Amino acid sequence: MPMAKGTFRFYEELNDFLPKHRKKVDFEAEFNKRKSIKDIIEECGVPPTEVDLVLINGKSVDFNTIFQDGDRVSVYPVFESLNIQNITLLRRFPFRRIQFIANIHLKDIVKPMRMLGLDIDYNGSFTTRDIIEKSIREKRILLTKRKELLKSKSITHGMLIRPGTAVEQVKHIIDDLDINDRIKPFSRCLRCNDPLENRQRKQIMDRISPGAKSIFEKYLLCKSCGKQDWGKNTCQLKVDIIRL
Ligand SMILES: [Zn+2]
Repeated sequence: MPMAKGTFRFYEELNDFLPKHRKKVDFEAEFNKRKSIKDIIEECGVPPTEVDLVLINGKSVDFNTIFQDGDRVSVYPVFESLNIQNITLLRRFPFRRIQFIANIHLKDIVKPMRMLGLDIDYNGSFTTRDIIEKSIREKRILLTKRKELLKSKSITHGMLIRPGTAVEQVKHIIDDLDINDRIKPFSRCLRCNDPLENRQRKQIMDRISPGAKSIFEKYLLCKSCGKQDWGKNTCQLKVDIIRL
């Protein structure tokens, strides 16, 4: 079988999966020709689910790319560290998943973000400690106006939000992270942040208020709200329905 040889470097916590002599260094390795980069990463012992970005010779590639002789491969973990001092670095990096948690004083940006389909966790009763822990555990970018908070060593993924209106702030987030392509309007529940599902009128007839029944054919349904016991004042229906 013809072989292809290349240079590899795995970053950050991906090193945990490597043997000692391959940790945090460039190393050469040989693989059968015509293998995808996904197979090669797996053969190196690193689960592809942990990988967010692969650069071959400096260019980002997808998992199906075939490894070629002489390639230089850099592999970054899911959630490559978001360094607030060097946010411009992100612009070159296409993240597969991007999700946020907003600090308590950023309530105004939550609905506009969700309206655009961006995943943003927020709860007025979260303490600062809750927010930090969730950011770390769920790999959410912590959005805050408090610079001091981002100096905390435990926060690895944070972003300082500049003063301005909610719309301006959301625009800055989208521009700074270069995530225009992640915008999917009306795909997420404004109330609980869960993804919405398409439903035909007849499928959810019993859940639509009488006034709306004759108006729309298609609806967006949030299954989570339906399962929760929302008070009448919080949510008129037990599902979140937005017209298409
Ligand atoms: Zn919901």
